[in-house]
Amino acid sequence: MKIIRGRATDLSSEGKGVVKYGKDIIFVDGLFPGEEADIEILYPRAGVYFGKVVKLHLFSKDRIQPRCKICTACGGCQFQQFAYSAQLKYKTQRVKEALYRMANVTTEVLPCIGMDNPYNYRNKVQVPFAKERNGKVKYGFYKENSHIIMPVKQCAIEDKRASPILWDIKLLLEKMNIPVYNEDNGHGILRHVLIRTSYHYPEVMVVLVITKLNFPGQRNFINALVEKHPEITTIVANVNTRRTNVVLGFTEKVLYGPGKIKDDILGLTFEISCSSFFQINPIQVEKLYSVALNLIDFSKKETVLDAYSGVGTIGLIAAKNAKRVISVESNKSAHLNAIENAKRNNVNNIEFICDDASEFIANCDIELDVVIMDPPRSGSDKKFLSTLINKRIKKIIYVSCNPETLARDIAFLSDYYNVTFVQPVDMFPMTAHIETVCALSLKKSS
Ligand code: SAH
Repeated sequence: MKIIRGRATDLSSEGKGVVKYGKDIIFVDGLFPGEEADIEILYPRAGVYFGKVVKLHLFSKDRIQPRCKICTACGGCQFQQFAYSAQLKYKTQRVKEALYRMANVTTEVLPCIGMDNPYNYRNKVQVPFAKERNGKVKYGFYKENSHIIMPVKQCAIEDKRASPILWDIKLLLEKMNIPVYNEDNGHGILRHVLIRTSYHYPEVMVVLVITKLNFPGQRNFINALVEKHPEITTIVANVNTRRTNVVLGFTEKVLYGPGKIKDDILGLTFEISCSSFFQINPIQVEKLYSVALNLIDFSKKETVLDAYSGVGTIGLIAAKNAKRVISVESNKSAHLNAIENAKRNNVNNIEFICDDASEFIANCDIELDVVIMDPPRSGSDKKFLSTLINKRIKKIIYVSCNPETLARDIAFLSDYYNVTFVQPVDMFPMTAHIETVCALSLKKSS
């Protein structure tokens, strides 16, 4: 065991303190810039070392008491010990640095839009279950880079309705002797529990990820759970028999209620099923979409492409003010949800295409006025971006969940486009994740 004394000078993109030690770099959980500590070096990975704080000597003025004792160990909340105002400043700074360093962009980055109460926002919770040595059932979050479950009774960032349900599931499993899954030998029934909550409606979905449908005692288990928690409006079984890290399997059966819940974003209602993608912060998503859509001067004349559209949320909201919206999404079930969502909200000036966004735009002969793009963390690709350039799309709204890939893609566009607006929005308080809205406009000379 090697222990060194070091000082953090920066934060990594994963929110860990960056400590320089001779020629080496050590990433340390829960160590903030300016802080000095004794650090245990744990392991090397991809050219850097990972370490943990053994003793703190110098404290940052931004250090606060975390709400959750295991906040750094579970790998979920890198920033719970970091004052919220400092988190927002850091996120703004990182967007600024990435854009400048990788794309030479000097456009002002507006201060990251935060939450009034940056806790208990997550509308989706997913936890693994396992058996402890003493026979009790445990659940929680995996310790970072491992499959060791850190038990958590009350998570500080998830919707408050989730924890009591999880606790009672544990008690019921113990009482009814329902075996939990054993990762090593593949035996047992219950693997994970996923809880999705609606912000605008009193609706809660519980998904039991199990190895076989109709396990012994299933009906009694469901009845007992619903009796204890009448706030649960639906329970779905998802069968996953594969020896894999992927949580959800392919077979689903509704065990109780309608099998889905609904929630609203900016006045429209969306259906959420067990596996559909839905933004996890219901309060911030309204701010994010408002910022993005306010950048378009709608006059009911625009044809808009909503690329990487998920269940169609941004496009459906844009359709209220545009002439025509085309949404493209590669995931089949999200695409089907999007079609349902359009029907449910009586939106008729929108079309949904299930395709790779780059393939679609490259072969599309519709005149597009605005392209809204919201790609996954890996960003967009050369084919998509060069098509934007070739088609001389006048306005691009780029919604990004990764400042580095955003900056890389903007660098690719930079001979043809000016960045006119940059606004980070904090979708994931207490974590190092950063969401940004950018507007780009075609240079006059292009
Ligand atoms: N705009 C949506 C979803 C954003 S997440 C929202 O705000 O909710 C990114 C989406 O891009 C996911 O739904 C993912 O399935 C989709 N996606 C990933 N790669 C894609 C590709 N190559 N072409 C089209 N869609 C893709």
